[in-house]
Amino acid sequence: MRIVVKVGTSTLAHATGMLNIRRVEKLCQVMSDLKNAGHQLVLVSSGAIGMGVGKLSLPGRPADIPTKQAAAAVGQCELMYTYDKLFTEHNHTVAQILITGADLQNDERRHNFHNTLYRLLELGALPIINENDSVATEEIVIGDNDTLGAIVATNVGADLLILLSDIDGLYTADPHTDPTARLLTVVEAITPEIEAMTGGAGSKLGTGGMQTKIHAATIAMEAGIPMVIANGQDPAVLYDIVEGRPVGTRFAAKGE
Ligand code: GLU
Repeated sequence: MRIVVKVGTSTLAHATGMLNIRRVEKLCQVMSDLKNAGHQLVLVSSGAIGMGVGKLSLPGRPADIPTKQAAAAVGQCELMYTYDKLFTEHNHTVAQILITGADLQNDERRHNFHNTLYRLLELGALPIINENDSVATEEIVIGDNDTLGAIVATNVGADLLILLSDIDGLYTADPHTDPTARLLTVVEAITPEIEAMTGGAGSKLGTGGMQTKIHAATIAMEAGIPMVIANGQDPAVLYDIVEGRPVGTRFAAKGE
């Protein structure tokens, strides 16, 4: 299977913005093992801004664009250094691709992005993708990595898109405030009722939330790619998802 895994900042970093070492080590171990089992994997990783915040000892996620872009430049290095080190321990080669919305709007650049992804997979490398936050401006920003994950999945002809988050999946209401909230295990179509369940934004360091995940699901489902939202607290959950066990919320691909 060709699988795109997207991990959010809340999965990769502690609330301080510093790396969650145990979590990231486990993630790289499980993904390496899935590669060893013959799956092709692409990682869409957030965490550049969050980790830059940690490394620069900033008081929180910056509000202004220059500091955000500076934090991303610092954090992206830290991220790739960590992935390179951990995947290398398992004999896997990583490759970094940073893109912006403008790259996707331009046919030639999108085509090159697509070709690079395919060639990296042919070469057995593990592409790790993030938005190029240090140069993206508001007009061209993709804005969130859930959407980026879905775009990558469609560009690489993925069989499955997995979004690892700090929540178990899509609930009928906010589980933090509503005790009657129920986890939906399968979503067949994005209806207005489903959209109404998405609530507000996500964590303090990341960008997403349920709205961007539903947006990603819309893109993936339409392209015939199933998507799963699951809790990334224990990255071993990837084994269950790949083996088709019911975990989190599964969004069925169109025509499934
Ligand atoms: N590209 C952002 C980062 O690496 C994350 C965007 C998101 O959280 O969706 O910090």
